[in-house]
Amino acid sequence: MALSDREVQFLDTTLRDGEQAPGISLSPEEKAEIARALDAANVSVIEAGSACTGPGERETISRVTDLDLDARVTSFARGVRNDIDLALDCDVDGVNLVVPASDRHVEEKLDTTHEDVVDTTVDLVEYAKDHGLWVEVLGEDGSRADLDFLEDLMGAAIDSGADRVCAPDTVGHATPDRMFEIYDRLSDLGPTSMHTHDDLGLAVTNTLAGLAAGADLVHGTINGIGERAGNVAIEEVAMALDHGYGVKTLDTEMLHELGQLVSSATDVPLPPNKAVIGENAFTHESGIHTDGTLKDDAMYEPYPPEKVGRERRLVLGKHAGRAGVKAGLREHDVEVTDDELSEIVSRVKELGDRGKRVTDADLLTIAEEVQGRERDRRVELVDLTAASGSGTPTASVRLEVDGEERVSSGTGSGPVDAAIAAVRSALGSAANAQLDSYHVDAITGGTDAVVTVEVEMSRGDRSVTVAASDSDITTASVRAMVDALDRLVANEETPVLADD
Ligand SMILES: [Zn+2]
Repeated sequence: MALSDREVQFLDTTLRDGEQAPGISLSPEEKAEIARALDAANVSVIEAGSACTGPGERETISRVTDLDLDARVTSFARGVRNDIDLALDCDVDGVNLVVPASDRHVEEKLDTTHEDVVDTTVDLVEYAKDHGLWVEVLGEDGSRADLDFLEDLMGAAIDSGADRVCAPDTVGHATPDRMFEIYDRLSDLGPTSMHTHDDLGLAVTNTLAGLAAGADLVHGTINGIGERAGNVAIEEVAMALDHGYGVKTLDTEMLHELGQLVSSATDVPLPPNKAVIGENAFTHESGIHTDGTLKDDAMYEPYPPEKVGRERRLVLGKHAGRAGVKAGLREHDVEVTDDELSEIVSRVKELGDRGKRVTDADLLTIAEEVQGRERDRRVELVDLTAASGSGTPTASVRLEVDGEERVSSGTGSGPVDAAIAAVRSALGSAANAQLDSYHVDAITGGTDAVVTVEVEMSRGDRSVTVAASDSDITTASVRAMVDALDRLVANEETPVLADD
């Protein structure tokens, strides 16, 4: 059956294979939150961890099984009975039972024989099935295994009751034709799953090759986190299936939110050019592309950003053109003449040439200068002090708001957080703006580096980006935020009230 007519499900292993990536450790709360989001997005199976890791991990897996999700919750288990028992202690629905498949694993790592591996696997599958578990058997390093042995092993697993089998590309070694060859044979045995790694940048392609050969479940992680170069990224496979083959799997509108959630829980930042969820995935700067996009949304995008829960962004820089600049100005209700527009475009390009992304505030300042308008600032930072150390970080700010001085203080998880709390408290309802993004860039590498903080804030249907630089990160953050708030309330008629 053609891929476009098939049903494909996902097994998410962000909480197991993803967490095995260097430096990642998720708390029980974080795992539970991610599991809930995966379930809401229609992931079919959630591999919540490895019960054999220790009591802490078992507690965490139990937290996930207690959530009573629609998704099946499983634990990783090595090819020993004790691992299955430990998984049962966590009340999981199933196990991902990993047994050796390649000669490297069978002979060198475990010093055993093909016959023994088959016998042990049959015994373990029967044991797990007797205890009511859903069982998926993974032949570790399957892509490097002898194909005849792999077929014997997986056939024995299915015959002894396994629900499905998988030949993981454990080290990201396979090419798409190898994957197709393997799954062409395994899929005759029973239901098969894909498990690919991205060491050659082929994780998505290999997954699609296996699906084309007959597999119908995909193991992957959100954002592609995982050991070494990572696992296949679920959001990429889901969108490739949706866009390329018309196969509906997950609630794709949740993909961006899921990506953000996993990125912040794992502290693994997303590369800006990452497919589907990278910051630049739906951002256009070049004049030609911006102009084309303004004429037809689909001109330079494969599918609309809303499909993955995002919005299109047009940004200005050295590649800016008239159409993009004009559209940027119109978003802030600024109308300009043709001559003014030419002058603004050339100044925007000049700023972009210096390697800067041109923020809304930069654009508006340039327009004010070109049009000879003087801007009345409604909110200005007069003074800021922040203290952190052994106690709770605190900060106090003095602002001038509509000509009147306001002083306020705040506490937070760090000095920047405390200072932002102080600003919000001083501004009351005017600070009812959402901080949509917050970026810090160090311009030089030393501890005396000047940092640039860029914030994107929105209030109602208006949003604005502002950047500020300082050697002190708290000062830069507060200046950027105060400027952004000032821009957001600039056209509002009402006075900026302190409390209401
Ligand atoms: Zn893996």
